[in-house]
Amino acid sequence: MSTATLSLILLSVMLLIIMVATIIIIAVLISKNKSTSVPPSATVPQMLHCTSCGEMIPAGTQYCPKCGALNENASRYANVQQDSPSAGFAVLSFFFPLIGLILYLVFKDQTPLKAKSCGMGALTGFITSVIFTILFVIIYVVFIFGMLSMYA
Ligand SMILES: [Zn+2]
Repeated sequence: MSTATLSLILLSVMLLIIMVATIIIIAVLISKNKSTSVPPSATVPQMLHCTSCGEMIPAGTQYCPKCGALNENASRYANVQQDSPSAGFAVLSFFFPLIGLILYLVFKDQTPLKAKSCGMGALTGFITSVIFTILFVIIYVVFIFGMLSMYA
């Protein structure tokens, strides 16, 4: 066996190891996101004081039923309630980093946790594709050199 063939086998093994490692890292990141997320009921109160008159009003109600003032706390919690890390969006962003980036920009104000999932997915996907591209170029170059040395 020539040195080029050996190098090619070695690089293929390296590629396989990196691929498996990346999948493990993504799995860990997704499971970590899930475990650290708290259920909405634990952080979001059911009733809130009106910021204007102090009356107890249900969370998610934008306007106080007593004085009609806009309740900033309630509307803020209404947004928080819908926000949670999304494994589905993370996976989608991993395979399509550009879509992930767009989703991140769309979600970052209203649902920061969902945006973070997209951002992490997109970043991991981007880094992985860069690593894979570099490795494929190396393998290709080694392969070409191997061919050249065979026929030289
Ligand atoms: Zn009020």
